[in-house]
Amino acid sequence: MTATAARAERQFDLIVIGAGPAGAAAAHVAASQGLRTALVDKRRFPRPKLCGGGITGRAMSHYRDIFEQNQPNVPLVTCRDLSFFAFGQDLGTDHNAPPLHLGMRITFDAHLVALALRAGAEDFTGQTGALDTSATALDIAGMRLTAPVIIAADGVNSPTARQLFGSAFDRTKIGFALEVETPEIAPDKPLRIDFGAAEWGYGWRFPKTGSTTIGLGGVMSRNTDMKAALAQYLDRLGADPTQPPKGQFLPFGAFRKTPGRGQILLAGDAAGLVDPITGEGIAHALHSGSLAAQATIAALKAGRPETALALYQQKIRPIHRGLQHAGMLRQIIFRPQFRRTFIKSFQNSRTLRGEYLRLLAGQTEYAPIMRHMALRLPGFGLKVLREI
Ligand SMILES: Cc1cc2nc3c(=O)[nH]c(=O)nc-3n(C[C@H](O)[C@H](O)[C@H](O)COP(=O)(O)OP(=O)(O)OC[C@H]3O[C@@H](n4cnc5c(N)ncnc54)[C@H](O)[C@@H]3O)c2cc1C
Repeated sequence: MTATAARAERQFDLIVIGAGPAGAAAAHVAASQGLRTALVDKRRFPRPKLCGGGITGRAMSHYRDIFEQNQPNVPLVTCRDLSFFAFGQDLGTDHNAPPLHLGMRITFDAHLVALALRAGAEDFTGQTGALDTSATALDIAGMRLTAPVIIAADGVNSPTARQLFGSAFDRTKIGFALEVETPEIAPDKPLRIDFGAAEWGYGWRFPKTGSTTIGLGGVMSRNTDMKAALAQYLDRLGADPTQPPKGQFLPFGAFRKTPGRGQILLAGDAAGLVDPITGEGIAHALHSGSLAAQATIAALKAGRPETALALYQQKIRPIHRGLQHAGMLRQIIFRPQFRRTFIKSFQNSRTLRGEYLRLLAGQTEYAPIMRHMALRLPGFGLKVLREI
């Protein structure tokens, strides 16, 4: 008798690997539509996750659509005061910006998982499995889980992407972020974003209910000493320099054009869906997880699970387009020859600033910002206009 035959087999319509925002969203959408859904994560929840915990209006609106709840039932600080700096220069503070919510991922993610389980997903958290890509099966704790489709939302280091493609991400393009949780409680201080605090990246100070998160992230290959950059940034903000920093890869700048292979779909960080300008990943994780589940539902309904990936790729196109635009805009912000124009435009143009805030709020996409910058930078403009 083979090892596989000795395992008890459980059949599902969908296996979701990874129960962060992308996986919880996928499992919730699928289970709500009656799919027998297994939700697997190597950790049990609540579990910590290194993150600024900035939940933008765009993330919140995906949360509402997917989980059909008005507001996550977790402690959140809501900020309407946003200060912007670029390369050390003060770009001003907006006092009535669309609300940005700040919370700890340990509670936020546990809340999402609880909602997915309540919708009917079966709980396989606290366990890892060995993926059998030829059979779309996961061997886990003496059991074989099988399903016609698997959604892998197993994060930036995605073991699934590594198994399918040989690596989880492109090391020449990947971002890296460092963060400290300082004991300072300052809900009255504006949320602060510093473009250029790291090379081809930014810094942030996010007030939370019991602490303040300060961090920076940038393109890894351009930042040879991120720890020194963080120390400088903490010094600039007058923050406690003694807290130990924690680091993690940030998958911005190189999303997977085909987000999966065969009947395995990748969502969230596993598919490289972090915005290269804002560093925001929760919104795209929630959105892509739900789109992958919708594609799976449609493919199974048609009795053609092999079409799930193509359907998903179509649905995810607007996210890819937005990331492409953000990648171009990043050239304006960080290339020295365009930098002054960006700073002046962001400082002086209420339209550009307003569009940026509307983007964070989920009320617009990158195209209007691109058009605005194209008008100010004619050389760049031609290139941009061909893209939008
Ligand atoms: C320092 C830092 C700050 C950030 N700040 C923000 C911010 O303020 N706002 C924002 O929107 N985004 C932020 N991001 C990005 C954001 O954290 C991610 O984009 C988001 O978590 C992606 O969600 P996900 O569900 O794809 O992956 P994750 O949240 O990483 O979840 C992946 C899950 O997969 C599980 N897993 C991994 N391997 C396996 C396995 N083999 N088997 C089973 N399960 C597995 C993990 O345990 C985890 O629960 C930040 C990132 C960093 C690094």
